[in-house]
Amino acid sequence: MAYATVNPFTNVQTETFPNATDAEIDAALDKAHAAFLVWRETSFAVRAKVMQTAADILRRDMDTYSRLLTLEMGKLYAEAKAETELSADIFEYYANNAEKLLQPESLPVGHNAEGRARVIHQPLGVLLAVEPWNFPFYQVARIIAPQLSAGNTILLKHASNVPQCAAAMDKLMREAGLPDGAFRNLYPSHAQVSRIIADSRVCGVALTGSEGAGAKIASEAGLALKKCTMELGGADAFIVLEDADLEKTVNWAVFGRHWNSGQVCVSSKRMIIVDSLYDKFLALYREGIGKLKMGDPMAPETTLAPLSSQGAVDGLRKQVEEAVRFGAKAEEIPLELPNTGAFFRPVILTGVDSDNPASREEFFGPVSMLFRAKDEEHAIQIANASPYGLGGSVFTTDELRGERVAQRIETGMVYVNHPTMVKADLPFGGVLRSGFGRELIGLGIKEFVNHKLIDVVDIDAPF
Ligand code: NAP
Repeated sequence: MAYATVNPFTNVQTETFPNATDAEIDAALDKAHAAFLVWRETSFAVRAKVMQTAADILRRDMDTYSRLLTLEMGKLYAEAKAETELSADIFEYYANNAEKLLQPESLPVGHNAEGRARVIHQPLGVLLAVEPWNFPFYQVARIIAPQLSAGNTILLKHASNVPQCAAAMDKLMREAGLPDGAFRNLYPSHAQVSRIIADSRVCGVALTGSEGAGAKIASEAGLALKKCTMELGGADAFIVLEDADLEKTVNWAVFGRHWNSGQVCVSSKRMIIVDSLYDKFLALYREGIGKLKMGDPMAPETTLAPLSSQGAVDGLRKQVEEAVRFGAKAEEIPLELPNTGAFFRPVILTGVDSDNPASREEFFGPVSMLFRAKDEEHAIQIANASPYGLGGSVFTTDELRGERVAQRIETGMVYVNHPTMVKADLPFGGVLRSGFGRELIGLGIKEFVNHKLIDVVDIDAPF
């Protein structure tokens, strides 16, 4: 059975879910299309009420939703609650802002003195969202809140290890008052995903996931000439300049690399430290990681959760072994291992040269790569020597210098004095192999709309 709940803290499978049948998928497509024809005409006020109700339900039932996140992908319960709250914030953001963000834009009267030209933003139709397991609610909220607010309807293909979280989002939107068919979770096989993309009722695809999945889904969307957005992997640089506040910077580094057990697209995966601070940074960083505590993700004293599955542990271990085979040094931090569960002891990799394939890879778990930079210029060079372009950070007490460095980092998001953040009112997305398109705020809601020009011209105006 492809879709299953396996508790990463016990490695015990508790539930399985059969794949959708072709007939179920066809029925969902029919309903999503029929729902679109009504939903696109529905007022912003009505759509906003549904979004606000979804936010209110998430907050009201915070414990139930958050437990589900911890059960299926193993994240710390405190982090699960933060994710549920963030998802509620996103629904609320669009409840409050969708209408403003999609206001028609009057074009300035210029060469067009004869006409009254406006760009209006109309929904495209049925969309497919393909989402990953690392933030099972947030990733879904990030696409359905803006797109439903814009008047589109959506089918969801969630990751196969979070089927109950996927079903919970489906139930949430029904309970919030969304019309039948406007959002539907399905459990399709990969082949059925291809069929959905090719279906003429589907107008666009949004994927968050790995480069491999992104390349495949984007090529299928391309073949079918459909718009897509790709939110893919990352290997964020965490640059530490010589004037950084070292103690606070190290605290952020430990957090930035280990929250969600290091399974974040924007984890601080490559620490780039200027020479004068490198040794002190390494000593404090090692000490900081050494204070983490692995254990039951529901227990408040646990600070490092299991990975999402035993498969993820095995894959990450292989990746570290390969990095070492190509010359890196791996230092495992000897945290006490719980008796069961998909746990992975944090590793610090040093001596990763530019010809080591690891320098261009994403490590999706608590593995930190440390690089020694001669100076600011060299740090920027190392930061940009990555095929990814998602987020990144610069630590310095000189904020203007931080901004100057940030402008030279080739990614979609750079934070000065903070690891890459996720917030309901900040845009999210990357460049290069981290994908294309943006989610959240006005940029996200405008990804799947028709920016239609309507120009009303005096019939006697010259051509
Ligand atoms: P993944 O294996 O690519 O899976 C993501 C989604 O794509 C899942 O629903 C998966 O379904 C589906 N999928 C994978 N291959 C497919 C195929 N051939 N046909 C149809 N669907 C397919 O990624 P993951 O391991 O779940 O997530 C980790 C990756 O996501 C990391 O690289 C991380 O950096 C990235 N990520 C990026 C962002 C961002 O915003 N940029 C955010 C979070 C995560 P199955 O489970 O059924 O395979």
